[in-house]
Amino acid sequence: MKLVILSDIHSNLAALNKAFKYITDLNPDKIICLGDIVGYGPRPNECVELIQQKCQISLMGNHDHAVLGLTDTYHFNQYAREAINWTRRALTIQNKAYLENLTFSHPENEILYVHSTPLHPEEWHYILSEYEASQYYPQIKQRLCFVGHSHIPVVFSSADPPVYDEELDLSDKRKQYIINVGSIGQPRDGDPRLCFVLYDTDSGKLNYIRLEYPIQETYDEILENKLPPFLAMRLFAGH
Ligand code: ZN
Repeated sequence: MKLVILSDIHSNLAALNKAFKYITDLNPDKIICLGDIVGYGPRPNECVELIQQKCQISLMGNHDHAVLGLTDTYHFNQYAREAINWTRRALTIQNKAYLENLTFSHPENEILYVHSTPLHPEEWHYILSEYEASQYYPQIKQRLCFVGHSHIPVVFSSADPPVYDEELDLSDKRKQYIINVGSIGQPRDGDPRLCFVLYDTDSGKLNYIRLEYPIQETYDEILENKLPPFLAMRLFAGH
């Protein structure tokens, strides 16, 4: 089965449109969204509607949760908080209702999908190091765990050092993996191109897809909507 797994769209419609154009040609069996559809960017409604239309599985992210008033924005930086308040006003009732119904995690066969961490995903912790990843393996029933949240694409393994590459082989059944799929709408690994993964459950092959998209469009819309300019500038830098 061909799976497309994407995350952290953050209301960046130009990026999401580009991703879906490419995904249509891939013709995957399933598209999974790991959350943070909204927050930071200027087009929350269009992004929620597209995800709702295209994704078979869709999970709750911390920004989605915060927009609903369910996660305190105390831990958010000032730019994120401003964008949350703006998004709360911009979202339609229907799209808020869609976000309200998202779940925190989704297990399916040998895969677990979450936004943040496999255990207590609603606490929104990050998995940023090999050590942090290693704490989770004994407690995850599934062999593979796909996460988003940090916006930094990387594959942690129970047996090998962390790695990030265009194509990786995750077929070794003796190993567990935590795969961060990167971010569609706000990459932070120094590469401004949008990022998501394609995973083939038969071959165990994982592909990171990086695509350029019209950043200027989102940049202009952020400024037009009087969202913090920092959120526009960082898109060009990819951090
Ligand atoms: Zn995010």
